[in-house]
Amino acid sequence: MKVAVIGAGLGGLCLAQGLREAGIDVEVFERDPGVHARFQGYRIGLADIGRDALLACLPARLHPLLDAVTGTLSGRRVFFDTQLRQLRELPPMTATAVDRHVLRHVLLDGVDVHFGKEFTGYRGTRAEFADGTHVDADLIVGADGIASAVRAQLAPDIRPTDTGVRCVIGRTTLTREYEMLVPGFGSGVSDGKVQLMLGLMRFRRPPREAGRELGVDLPDTPDYVRWVLLPAPEAPGKAVEGWHPRVRALVEATDPAHSAWLSISVVRPERRWSPGRVTLLGDAIHATSPSGGNGANAALHDARLLRDLLVQRDVPEAVEEYETQMLAYGAEAVDHSVAMLDQFLPGRAGRRS
Ligand SMILES: Cc1cc2nc3c(=O)[nH]c(=O)nc-3n(C[C@H](O)[C@H](O)[C@H](O)COP(=O)(O)OP(=O)(O)OC[C@H]3O[C@@H](n4cnc5c(N)ncnc54)[C@H](O)[C@@H]3O)c2cc1C
Repeated sequence: MKVAVIGAGLGGLCLAQGLREAGIDVEVFERDPGVHARFQGYRIGLADIGRDALLACLPARLHPLLDAVTGTLSGRRVFFDTQLRQLRELPPMTATAVDRHVLRHVLLDGVDVHFGKEFTGYRGTRAEFADGTHVDADLIVGADGIASAVRAQLAPDIRPTDTGVRCVIGRTTLTREYEMLVPGFGSGVSDGKVQLMLGLMRFRRPPREAGRELGVDLPDTPDYVRWVLLPAPEAPGKAVEGWHPRVRALVEATDPAHSAWLSISVVRPERRWSPGRVTLLGDAIHATSPSGGNGANAALHDARLLRDLLVQRDVPEAVEEYETQMLAYGAEAVDHSVAMLDQFLPGRAGRRS
């Protein structure tokens, strides 16, 4: 059996690792010219479902490395006013912190990825690329993200919906001065119009050093504070003018290469297409708002589920069962993330269902 995975994001690479471990022939085709092509490195909180999927798909030799380059998020979620006086707190939570860019490098290890291959369409089970090449497979998996070209052909009526919400995301290298801004799982600072959401990415070991021991080339990413300003102000520096000096310093010291403006769109799988030998995974079919903290978790779970089914059943049966389960929990994940978006927008909690 041969599987062609379109897209080398977290979901596609996790699937490729899992299939490779199971002895199934798999190749990944990625549009970007290389792994460093664009802004990729934000922090992700993994719940047990995402972490377990990673462990189930990655070979055992990479498990210690995964542990070394993740961190623990735990404790209260504290909300401050602009002068860092505590307003309220939410109950403790725990999760595993990963940096998307670092995790992608771990997931790339040993996988056959062809960069610079933009998928343009399929005929039967032949996937075609913009450079005029093609690949024949028994199954094509569209793991090509929110603007999926595979989805556009397979299920053209399922399209992204713009929530209308914009945010700015940034990252600032962690120093002792900034540590107190995030006393637990995560924190928020708000003036009632804009909310600054803060979270830590603290690696158990520096990724480059930990990777070197296993011969895996990982980026030299420092510990950092991930911040998100929601909704996006015209100028992030101006939005926090008059706020506590430590908060202003954090926003002003941001690393521009790892900051970006994001438009928040979602893809909700409304209905099913005829199952066959082309399917979808991750954001390509259930793109959540980052506020849900569940998009990567769902994409990794998809990868594990599809891998397990492909090991047990023939392709049509595996795809049918995979899509039945995935479409149900995928739609729930999107709904949850949209509901959470309201919670994070100052002054909008509870206004939408
Ligand atoms: C700021 C932010 C914070 C987030 N925080 C969390 C969190 O805390 N927890 C959580 O669970 N989720 C979080 N998410 C969501 C999570 O990042 C995504 O759901 C997840 O990365 C989706 O993975 P994917 O593999 O489906 O798609 P992607 O990571 O989007 O990968 C798709 C890949 O396909 C490639 N591609 C696209 N088109 C083509 C084509 N035509 N041909 C070939 N290749 C193509 C792209 O270049 C890309 O590499 C967050 C998202 C953002 C933006």
